[in-house]
Amino acid sequence: MKIIDLLAQDKPTLSFEVFPPKTSDTYDAVAGATQAIAALRPDFMSVTYGAGGGTSDYTVGIASGIREQYGVEVLAHLTCASSTREHVAHVLEQLKARGIENVLALRGDIPEGGALAHDYHYAAELVRDIKARGDFCVGGACYPEGHPDSPTKNADMDHLKEKMEAGCQFFTTQMFFDNNILYNFLYRIREKGITVPVVAGIMPVTNGKQIARICKLSGTYLPERFKAIVDKFGDNPSAMRQAGIAYAAGQIIDLIANGVNHIHVYSMNKPDIAALLQESLSEVLK
Ligand code: FAD
Repeated sequence: MKIIDLLAQDKPTLSFEVFPPKTSDTYDAVAGATQAIAALRPDFMSVTYGAGGGTSDYTVGIASGIREQYGVEVLAHLTCASSTREHVAHVLEQLKARGIENVLALRGDIPEGGALAHDYHYAAELVRDIKARGDFCVGGACYPEGHPDSPTKNADMDHLKEKMEAGCQFFTTQMFFDNNILYNFLYRIREKGITVPVVAGIMPVTNGKQIARICKLSGTYLPERFKAIVDKFGDNPSAMRQAGIAYAAGQIIDLIANGVNHIHVYSMNKPDIAALLQESLSEVLK
């Protein structure tokens, strides 16, 4: 099923994101964790793509395992900054062969000092290629706080519109911890004529120290309410886990109450966290 058809239904959706292994020796452990998440039967699952593209077979393998064994629809990520057109065509053929029809088209981070293939510069070019190579449903990334490389939020939104015009049928957001940032972003992109569905990306934070570092790097705003939780519980893993899941659940409840129906959880290969969060939303998601 195409994700755009799932998003067109008049009901909330909950999806989970997982990542593939970096090396073959951890493949089975990662496949086990991702399948335990699939057993929760989310509306769909997305499988990220390793920076550089060297592990693209793992993305395809993990995604097809989820789809074939659990019947859960999958969204395979694909990045282009470090890829040739030839490699992209190869991955798309693999996806087609495994019946995967949803792709999240990304530029990928520019590797520090790493080799750029120079076939692609921006995700919009990848979107056009994917659309030309098959009947795929294509999504893209968006950044409620602006992409870190972009000089202004306005310029970033103009490029987002170009991505939609290239064929992106929905966008998934970068994580955010203050829903007002998302509401403001939605208002501004709708004003610009960006009409496709936006899936809100939510990160349940279970490691306080890690998130402070990630947010510093990505420029994600941490509200005082959230900082207080990390200050109080950051050194107590079980309390931080409980508080992080409750904070994410609170964000999701507020989003759904305000008409943002599609929620993507950065579940980070943690079936226990995905299960606790899903359980805490069981009535809200009906
Ligand atoms: P683009 O849409 O190409 O935008 C990148 C920057 O270029 C932005 O600042 C934009 O404003 C600017 N830009 C776009 N077009 C133009 C233009 N024509 N002229 C000038 N500037 C332009 N990374 C991975 O490696 N693997 C993954 O699986 C992965 N999954 C992700 C999933 C989500 C939901 C998100 C939010 C991010 C993900 N990323 C992933 C990270 C992503 O690859 C990086 O954030 C990357 O830096 C940007 O990718 P993009 O597709 O948003 O790029």
